[in-house]
Formats: sequence, C-alpha cells, structure tokens
Amino acid sequence: MSFEDIPVDIGVVYEGERVRGKDMFVELGGPKMEQKFELAIARDMGDIEDEKVTIIGPDLKDMEEGSYHPLGIVVEVAGKEIEPDLEGVIERRIHEYVNFVEGMMHLNQRYDIWLRLSKKSFEKGFNSFDFLGKVLMRLFKSEMNIIERIQVTFITDPEVVAERYDDAINRYNQRDERARGLSDTEVDTFYGCSLCQSFAPTHVCTITPQRYANCGAISWFDGRAAARVDPKGPLYAIPKGETIDEFRGEYVGVNQAYTEKSLGKVNSVALYSAFEKPHTSCGCFEAIAFVIPEVDGLGIVHRDFKGDTVNGLPFSSMADSTAGGRQVPGFHGISIEYMRSPKFLQVDDGWNRIVWVPQSVMERIVDFIPEDVRDRIATENDAMNIGDLKEFLKQKSHPVVNRWVELEEEAEAAVLAADAGTDYIAVPGEMTAMVGGVGGGLEIIFKNAKIYAEKVIIRRTGKGDKKK
Ligand code: SF4
Repeated sequence: MSFEDIPVDIGVVYEGERVRGKDMFVELGGPKMEQKFELAIARDMGDIEDEKVTIIGPDLKDMEEGSYHPLGIVVEVAGKEIEPDLEGVIERRIHEYVNFVEGMMHLNQRYDIWLRLSKKSFEKGFNSFDFLGKVLMRLFKSEMNIIERIQVTFITDPEVVAERYDDAINRYNQRDERARGLSDTEVDTFYGCSLCQSFAPTHVCTITPQRYANCGAISWFDGRAAARVDPKGPLYAIPKGETIDEFRGEYVGVNQAYTEKSLGKVNSVALYSAFEKPHTSCGCFEAIAFVIPEVDGLGIVHRDFKGDTVNGLPFSSMADSTAGGRQVPGFHGISIEYMRSPKFLQVDDGWNRIVWVPQSVMERIVDFIPEDVRDRIATENDAMNIGDLKEFLKQKSHPVVNRWVELEEEAEAAVLAADAGTDYIAVPGEMTAMVGGVGGGLEIIFKNAKIYAEKVIIRRTGKGDKKK
C-alpha cells in the first residue's frame, strides 16, 4: 500500500497524537458543533462507485485558519461477506485510521466525533478531504479484506449535515435496539475489543449483550460479526467459561482474557460494578459514573455536558481520573446504551444508587429507569452542589437516603466497639482504599488485615499546600 501521493506521513506512529488549539488549522465536529456524525453503511456491490470521494460543502482549502465546522463522514462498503452487523465495527475503525494521518486528531465516535487538522500538515499540502478519503479507503481495503468496494463522503455544508444527522441517529438506534433483545445468560460467548490499547495499553472492552462497549459504538452482534470474519483482529471471542458469580458478572473466561490481553495487569473483573473490580476504562467512554461520597451515591456525566457537575468538577477532570485502562473504583467509564441495560451497575444497586444525571441524558434513557426511582434522581435543574443535592434526595426519599441511616448506625456501632476496647479495624477478605482521589493517586489493597492506629487524619491536599 502506497501513500506517496499523500503530502503527509501515514502510520501507526501518529496514533495518540494530540493537536492543541494553538496548533490547529481547523476543527471539525467537536463540542462547538451541535450536529456531527460518522457512519458506515453496508451496501450492495452495484450501489458503490469504488474508491470515489465526494465532498459536500467547503473543502479544507476553503476553510479559514482557526475556524470550526460541522462534519459528517459516510463510509459505504460492499463485499460478498459484508453484512449490516459489521457496520458498527467498520465505523469504529474510522477513528483508528484518521489518527494514522500525521497532524490529524480524531476523538470519539458516532454523533460525538471531534477532529482537528494541524497547521503544519495543512502547510505541507494536506488541504483536501480527497487525501483523507484516499487514506481511509486504502487502509480499509488492506486491513479488512472483506471490503471489496468502498466510497467515502465528507459533508461540511451545515444544512446537509443537519439533514443527514437524523438518518444517522436512526441507524444507530436501530443497531442498539436489535442488541437489546438478548440477555447475558443466554449466550456462552462474549466478545473482547482491544482497539483502544494504542491509547490505554491495559484496556480491554468486554462486550456482552447487556454490557455495551464503553464507546457506545460496538454491540455484542457487532463483536460477533467482526470476530467471525477476522478472528485474529482487534475484536475476538471470549468464551465465558465457568461462572464465578452471575450477579456480579464474574466469569473465568473473562478474567483469563483480561490477564492475557492486559499482560497480567488486570486479572479479575466484575462486569456490573463501578466499585469492586470494575471493568477497565480507556478514554473513549461516552459517560462516567462517578462516586459522590457525601451522599453515598453515583452521579453520571456525559462527554457533551458543559461546565462543572454537581461535585464541582467538569467531565474532563473526571475523565483524567477514569481513563488509561485502569480499574478505578468509583470512577467508571460507560456507554449511554449500558444505562438502558437491566444489568446496569446491578452490584452497586443499579438505578437506586444513581443520584444525579444531566437532563439531556435523562431524556434519552428515561424509559429505561425504573418508574419508582425516576423522579427521585436530580438533574442540573434540581441541584448543582452537594448541599442542594442532599436536600433534594431527602425531599424525594431517594433510596440512598436509607443507606445514610444504615451508615450512621454502622458508624455508631464502630464507636461502641472502640469504647468496648477493640483497638483495631478488622479487614476480612479484601478492601481497597484510594489515596489521592480525583486527579490520580495511590490505591492501597488490604488483604485479611488488621489495622491498628492511634489516630487517622484525612486531609485534603493541593499543589500549593504546605505539609503540616
Ligand atoms: S471503547 Fe472498547 S469497544 Fe470501543 S473501540 Fe475502544 S476498546 Fe473497542
């Protein structure tokens, strides 16, 4: 495969390259644009004009330096083995291949795409979507040999992006709805995806019928289709193996896959928990479930939420604490579709533990939240700080309020035990303590420990704090 006619370098080495605001020539999609999308569509052979690139709207060379534009990318493919179940997987590769281009950054997926082209690459001559189309088509054909014909369309005309956006959303919804008919107990194979290991080397997505991939772009059906046509590719079958705990979503086969694919860094995962051995988080998650210790509940924030959340932190700060392929108890990357699953965080009490959700997410998933808790969950319209959140939850008798009573009773019992002469905290089994919290820190694991301490001081520290 040759890229000699492309004015910039193309290669894996550019994956993970960031284009900062000051270095960018243009931004396409991203948070400043309401409507943007990328879509793969399986077509019949006769419907594709092979290797054709279409540009609808201003091309890169027509754009002003530093400007922002909406974007739609449509990749249409055909081949004897191409089927609609492969659309999600082909679509997800757009992210990977655009990032192979020197000076191009591609983030996220589906209706969330965010691209930047650097000034340097533009100055080198990468001034047309035609180049990007050629790169995509060559990479797709060489990496996925089931693709026999391909054509790519770039849309930057705001009116046409808006027109096609609704069709894209309908197609995503249809894919997601199809995957909702199956439960995790009905299948003996899950699927794994390691596509994001170039950004997060220990990350593995385990895609089950009821736990959609973190990026929200790949369903169990998509994983199955991809593993069938390319079993050695980044999507592969994970035989469930022996069930360790069905409620928690612990399986011998899943643990083995993690051990193997994370090179021993992650060995045990409970698929339906945000706290105990949670599924790893790369950086492509659509949303984060984050602990709000003051109310013993979980909040949710999605990528498009602007500004601070109820705990005073924006999505971006919490994303730093969540991402990287780690298992971070209480900071858990998830997809929007997983929130529609009956297994959603069931180990942690599911929706009964969720206390705060952005209004726009609420509107998308409201029909999947159990009716008895639906109106007891706050949005930004009800609470934007912890004090107001507490009041709201108390007023609405949210289920977490019962947990506060239980916690108080436990604390009281602990004081009584201390008064009675017990001078240690017993830790039967395993307990994980986070030191450092948001922004990074240490994780300390206690196994069958007894902790003796005269005094425990928990102190908030910051960059400017002096040690006392
Ligand atoms: S988030 Fe998961 S499923 Fe999606 S591309 Fe990354 S590894 Fe694959």
